[in-house]
Amino acid sequence: MKAISDSGLLRQCSFIDGQWLAGDDRFSVDNPANGVPLALVEGAGAELAERAVEAADRAQKLWAKVPAAERSATLMAWHDLMLAHIDDLARLLTLEQGKPLAEAKGEIAYGASYVKWYAEEAVRIYGDTLPGPSSDKRVLVIKQPVGVVGAITPWNFPNAMLVRKAAPALAAGCAFVGKPAAETPLSALAVAELAQRAGLPDGLLNVVVGTDAPGIGRVLTQHPLIRKFSFTGSTATGKILLAQCAEGVKRTSMELGGNAPFIVFDDADLDAAVQGLMVAKFRNAGQTCVCSNRIFVHRAVYDAFAAKVVEAVAQLTVGDGLDAATQIGPLVGPAAVAKVAELVEQSLAQGAQAQVVGNAPVQGYFYPPTVLSGVSNAMAVARNEIFGPVLPLIPFEDEQEVIAQANDSEFGLAAYFYSRDIGRVFRVSEALEYGMVAINDGILSNAAAPFGGIKASGHGREGSKYGLDDYLDIKYLCLGGL
Ligand code: ADP
Repeated sequence: MKAISDSGLLRQCSFIDGQWLAGDDRFSVDNPANGVPLALVEGAGAELAERAVEAADRAQKLWAKVPAAERSATLMAWHDLMLAHIDDLARLLTLEQGKPLAEAKGEIAYGASYVKWYAEEAVRIYGDTLPGPSSDKRVLVIKQPVGVVGAITPWNFPNAMLVRKAAPALAAGCAFVGKPAAETPLSALAVAELAQRAGLPDGLLNVVVGTDAPGIGRVLTQHPLIRKFSFTGSTATGKILLAQCAEGVKRTSMELGGNAPFIVFDDADLDAAVQGLMVAKFRNAGQTCVCSNRIFVHRAVYDAFAAKVVEAVAQLTVGDGLDAATQIGPLVGPAAVAKVAELVEQSLAQGAQAQVVGNAPVQGYFYPPTVLSGVSNAMAVARNEIFGPVLPLIPFEDEQEVIAQANDSEFGLAAYFYSRDIGRVFRVSEALEYGMVAINDGILSNAAAPFGGIKASGHGREGSKYGLDDYLDIKYLCLGGL
């Protein structure tokens, strides 16, 4: 592939125990901007996944004994290599996933920031000494790596979703076996190549690519050597994988779907709210689990806000992510385009109106940015996670009513609201049943913060000091006879 300068970053088979192993599951990775094949991958199945788990188990036993400062230094070397190769990694990402190049660079930097964060946290895995129940006893608490971690990641952030799990796992002293989505395996394989160059011992980071997701998934959720399973993807798939984990009582972290409310109160700074909304809605063409899905606007400011939103959306440039002018790339594939189109058609039939429909190229998997007005919380676009560049506007009358509507969802991942009233800021933040709430801001995810949801959006946290706990077991030592 001419598009990248370091051809060693383009890997087309699985990375297992420090070796590049081809299986017989041949599949093509296509560019969603034009449908053109980019690479032929020699993918793996359940058998190679088992080999990866066994290698991870051997490597983990040694890694757990490596001093934390050494684990930290290896992670920092991995981080530095990611940034040194940011241009190539971003181009690979745009080619296989479609997002604009500037966003792809942002994702590489974002993924790397988790590696740096956990390189720094690796040396701060503290225990505790607690008062005992009697004078001859002491209670000591130590934290130990859970062991071998299995992970499955989606196509919308092919770099960051894998790295955001692997970094805390490795920092904690675990070994990692990850399966990226078959639509976007190249970004994950490229970071595995960089981990090896950074000096990470063989077997600690394995990337199994293949189209037999259920077969590989069963190994990563049910192999006796797997101690913990971490998933990012749809709630439907998450439920299947959680059930599989239940059999072996595996620890789990689940980052599942969302249906984020974005509330604009009548005291909001409308221009700031429009700006925040454009990012929260259209990043990655609307294909993120924290994308604002239902935009509730107070009736007193509804017309003014809608006019500003329509003006901003009409100016968006849709196209190939490699073009410098592009702000919105293609959706991941034809099924994604069909699903978004169906939700819009259903909502129009239910009484919504299309306020503006932007332009989009005819070739490739594009959907034009669309603003829908007169939407209600009961319509198809409000009940489902849209995962596309469609912005539904829902009017509301008062605070209690909008909180009830915002919480009326099976999901509980991210919520956003704009208000300048300090009392309201606290009331609404506390009342929203979501794992993350952005107040007067359109971007909430960063390495310093705990990312994760409640309800059908899952459990566990990624990022921050809390993210490390997902990969550590607490052990209590009862010291008696003093
Ligand atoms: P989407 O519908 O957006 O592709 P999924 O949750 O289906 O979201 O996919 C997220 C990840 O889960 C991908 O890596 C995919 O290959 C994987 N996956 C999908 N179905 C299964 C399954 N039954 N078992 C294991 N992994 C699966």
